[in-house]
Amino acid sequence: MNTYALITGASRGIGRAIAERLAHEGYTVIINYHSNTAAAEETKAVIEAAGGKAELLPFDVADGNAIEAALNQWDAAHEGEHISVLVNNAGIRRDGLMVFMNEEDWHDVMRTTTEGLYYTTHHVLSGMLRARKGRIINIASISGVSGLPGQTNYSAAKAALIGATKALSKEVAARKVTVNAVAPGFIATDMTADLDEAELKKTIPAGRFGKPEEVAALVAFLCSDEAAYITGQVINIAGGMG
Ligand code: NAP
Repeated sequence: MNTYALITGASRGIGRAIAERLAHEGYTVIINYHSNTAAAEETKAVIEAAGGKAELLPFDVADGNAIEAALNQWDAAHEGEHISVLVNNAGIRRDGLMVFMNEEDWHDVMRTTTEGLYYTTHHVLSGMLRARKGRIINIASISGVSGLPGQTNYSAAKAALIGATKALSKEVAARKVTVNAVAPGFIATDMTADLDEAELKKTIPAGRFGKPEEVAALVAFLCSDEAAYITGQVINIAGGMG
């Protein structure tokens, strides 16, 4: 019997590290991605080479209909099975000062975060509630906790994730489903590749960017039975920032 973990945006970066780690913990991981099929296939190959199990499930998290269609298809191909762990990880940045921000940059960031959150969570939640066990982990950001200049759209989207985490955790705790948010600081991935790491490091008490594997280790702990009493929390992983 497989225990499934769906990770959105798992072709690269933090999502990929989470997929690799959860596969190592014994989950059959469902690797969602948007368009980078080569990177997603590479993630799957790395997991399988290490003896793990993985499936690909591409969909655009900004498109509710696409999410529904993909998850309905998954359900049809996996009769009697359900998704036990959901990691809402896919996200994008479109930074700019609010006074210059165009509508597209606002809506793209909000939609990628909140559309994905609603449709994936809504779809998989009933299976978790029936099983009386489940884990939902939302990858927020310290930008959503403290707010960062140049990221009004991104901070708003991540704060929405945090609010939803707190509310939903209270709805489902009695059914042994936990819902937590992880708020990373600067993590070395494609998303931060354009930033001036040498300059930004000076603002981080730990003096370095974090690694995707460090975020993945925290997510794996939150998925474990040992974390059953932790719910509705926002856990910063930011080298002392925030
Ligand atoms: P990344 O390296 O840019 O990777 C983004 C991942 O999300 C890719 O797998 C990408 O798929 C997927 N994705 C993007 N838009 C998508 C969409 N519309 N539908 C489905 N998948 C989509 O990003 P990352 O740094 O790993 O970030 C992962 C999460 O952590 C994000 O939510 C981000 O906001 C958050 N975070 C990151 C940092 C950081 O410093 N890196 C800090 C705080 C929070 P494709 O490969 O198909 O494009």
